[in-house]
Amino acid sequence: MKLVVIGGVAAGMSAASKLKRVNKEAQVVVYEKGRFLSYGACGLPYYVSGENDDYTKMIARTKEQFEQMGIEVFLQHEVVKVVPDKKQVLVKDHKAHKLFIDTYDKLMIATGSVPIVPPLPGVKLGNIHVLKTLEDGIRLKELTETAEIRDVVIVGGGYIGIEMAEAMVLQGKRVRVIERAERILQTFDQEITQIAEEELHKQGVQLHLGEKVERFIGREKVEAVQTDLGTYPADLVVLSVGVKPATQFLEGSGIQLAANGAVVIDREMRTNVKDVYAAGDCALVYNKVKEENDYIPLGTNANKCGRIAGANMAGKHMKYIGTLGSAAIKVFDLELARTGMSETEAKNLAMDYTTVFIKSTDHPAYYPDQTPIWIKLICERRTRRILGAQAIGNKGVVLRIDIFAVAIHNKMSADELGMTDLCYAPPFAGVWDAVHIACNAVK
Ligand code: FAD
Repeated sequence: MKLVVIGGVAAGMSAASKLKRVNKEAQVVVYEKGRFLSYGACGLPYYVSGENDDYTKMIARTKEQFEQMGIEVFLQHEVVKVVPDKKQVLVKDHKAHKLFIDTYDKLMIATGSVPIVPPLPGVKLGNIHVLKTLEDGIRLKELTETAEIRDVVIVGGGYIGIEMAEAMVLQGKRVRVIERAERILQTFDQEITQIAEEELHKQGVQLHLGEKVERFIGREKVEAVQTDLGTYPADLVVLSVGVKPATQFLEGSGIQLAANGAVVIDREMRTNVKDVYAAGDCALVYNKVKEENDYIPLGTNANKCGRIAGANMAGKHMKYIGTLGSAAIKVFDLELARTGMSETEAKNLAMDYTTVFIKSTDHPAYYPDQTPIWIKLICERRTRRILGAQAIGNKGVVLRIDIFAVAIHNKMSADELGMTDLCYAPPFAGVWDAVHIACNAVK
């Protein structure tokens, strides 16, 4: 049995490792286009910021470690075509500049996503970068640490854009974020993003909301960014306007792709083509709250779905229980976290919902260093089932949202969670925790 995995990061290496654990006899071959594999891209902003000075710490396992497990890894090898009828892949060896054909019994597509680069005038100028791969992070950090970089413009106020804004402030740069929408971090609702925006202002980040980048100006390197409202100096631009599935090489293969290019899979990670599996940022994922496939490119899903694909390729029948889109971000002194449906999503799906937004604290006032926590809940009106939760505060936010994730996963109502026996001791929480208070405020 020969199992070929395309892509060697979260989904790909989770699949390869699980495969080899379940079926020790199987031949497992991984083709990875880049120079690195199995690294945590989520750590890149903290490498660029200087909080971590050793990029090797982001590498979970090396090629040699995988080879010791019996997995054959080929770096700088790109799969350029898949021919399911013949069970063949066409591989380009970028080191030897050679093309060759390999065969498979089962195939795993784990090619992830690529950053969207808007086709604006000047976008090819020097010092305009994306942050996706370890190579990107190494290059960005080298650049950031040179004295010539003073003014940094971040285009896009999503997770990566905001993490990079903080990283650049920590590196002593003047930072501007230009976002086309009226607010940042749009998987959160406005009550939460407003508090995050105030924090960014407080920390010296200039936020330009509702403003559209039109061109990049410069001779060889970028010198300024022009928008519909102004022109701003820029020695470095970080483009973070979203990602798209890296599936162009599958066009014409017969493997079904969704409108955005993501591979369509079932909950066992099977594509429409026999013996071909896919998972991670290149594929759709089952959304437990919406009860349908969705595109949520997060490491959380890539690792779990990759592992499931690996087990199933080795003959098991594991089914993904579904994502809630749980995600968190640190914005300077604040933690933000979300799970389930946002109000925007509930509105778009024409749900009959109700919301609450409360301000509470992480623990009682009589224990030192009390900090505020804001929680927003979205509940189904009739059943009072919790559909979504979001929170922001200085401490204890992410773990509280994890409580909501479990509640949403188990279809709990606000009334039930409002009386659930959570831990209480003054250094950690009130006897009525912020979670209880939010649930019991649902009308
Ligand atoms: P990828 O990590 O994109 O890996 C795919 C691999 O496939 C790549 O190495 C690519 O070179 C290779 N490849 C592509 N095409 C081919 C081909 N044709 N042939 C061979 N190889 C190919 N997620 C979270 O949940 N939490 C976070 O805090 C978080 N922070 C992030 C911060 C940053 C800066 C970034 C960039 C991402 C972050 N993510 C986060 C997202 C997370 O990193 C991704 O969801 C995850 O890496 C997806 O894993 P994947 O294996 O599907 O794809």
